[in-house]
Amino acid sequence: MAPNQVDTLIVGAGVCGLWLASLLQKQSDTTLIILEKSRGVGGRMATRRFDIGSFDHGAQFYTLKKETQAFHATFGDEECLQLPMSVDGIPRYFGKGGMTTLAKALAQNLKLHLQTHVDRMVRTASGWEVHTQQGTAWTCRTLVLTCPLPQSLAILHQSQIKYDLKLNQCAYNKALVLLVEDPQCDHQLPSTPHSIMDQKAKGLTSEPGWTITLSSAFSESYFEKSDDEILSASLKEVLRFAPGLTYRKIHLKKWRYAEPKESVPELFSSPHEGLFLAGDSHGGPSINGAIRSAEALANFLRIIA
Ligand SMILES: Cc1cc2nc3c(=O)[nH]c(=O)nc-3n(C[C@H](O)[C@H](O)[C@H](O)COP(=O)(O)OP(=O)(O)OC[C@H]3O[C@@H](n4cnc5c(N)ncnc54)[C@H](O)[C@@H]3O)c2cc1C
Repeated sequence: MAPNQVDTLIVGAGVCGLWLASLLQKQSDTTLIILEKSRGVGGRMATRRFDIGSFDHGAQFYTLKKETQAFHATFGDEECLQLPMSVDGIPRYFGKGGMTTLAKALAQNLKLHLQTHVDRMVRTASGWEVHTQQGTAWTCRTLVLTCPLPQSLAILHQSQIKYDLKLNQCAYNKALVLLVEDPQCDHQLPSTPHSIMDQKAKGLTSEPGWTITLSSAFSESYFEKSDDEILSASLKEVLRFAPGLTYRKIHLKKWRYAEPKESVPELFSSPHEGLFLAGDSHGGPSINGAIRSAEALANFLRIIA
């Protein structure tokens, strides 16, 4: 089968890949495609639906900073709402139907293939040939990997492509996340935009719905245990700040690559001509960081075009 051909191929439909593709599409008439291994877009901007409504179970919000202005401006006030609670006066924003709705809105005008897992690439005379686990192949001049860095490096390793070994030092924190439907407890919990978020306060659920992100130390020690063990140990932790907790249902979400412990100093890297690595591993451990990385790479590609 002849490989499909595009100018630019982006691996990963998280916020970095989606925003990079939107910028490149705006700034030139390049042909591009995003290949994403999951069933949906958004990566760690993730939302799940339960009986009482939608729970964001990855990123809860982004802060409005210089680098997020253009990203923020692409969504109207209807699509993007400001978080009602603030501990420091910094405005924080989320998608009205959950964080994934922002990713879906960006993806609307982009060409992408879901459930397409890239596993290796080969250097050719004019660029790259990219192969997927599904048996498809693509050729491109420019190839960008936006997966969490250890996953991007595994693809390079598998493809026998050399890279700066310092990149191996970018390790990620794990995160265990509990999604609690209709929690009730003896104390009124402080409403903070950090490790516990009531999805009802965001207007996403009809009843209280907590997303609780356990500490990275706890997540690291329990990550490989069975779901039952994780749930029982997590509940013990939660009961410390929510005595007498009862709930209708509880769900567990595990993120092996939640956030980089330390970012790579450059906003993107290029292990080989026409091959780039980007994402929060480079820009910093947040949606802002992933956007910062995408913006820097888009500028660079515009300059060298
Ligand atoms: C629990 C949690 C809470 C967080 N809270 C916040 C918050 O409140 N505010 C904030 O700003 N940030 C938060 N973050 C961090 C934020 O979500 C990330 O920094 C940001 O979303 C990273 O975007 P990205 O595009 O770089 O990577 P990702 O979102 O990880 O996107 C990478 C994509 O690549 C895909 N992929 C991987 N391998 C392959 C392959 N081989 N082939 C094809 N596709 C592949 C993945 O499926 C994924 O969709 C949180 C993260 C977690 C896990």
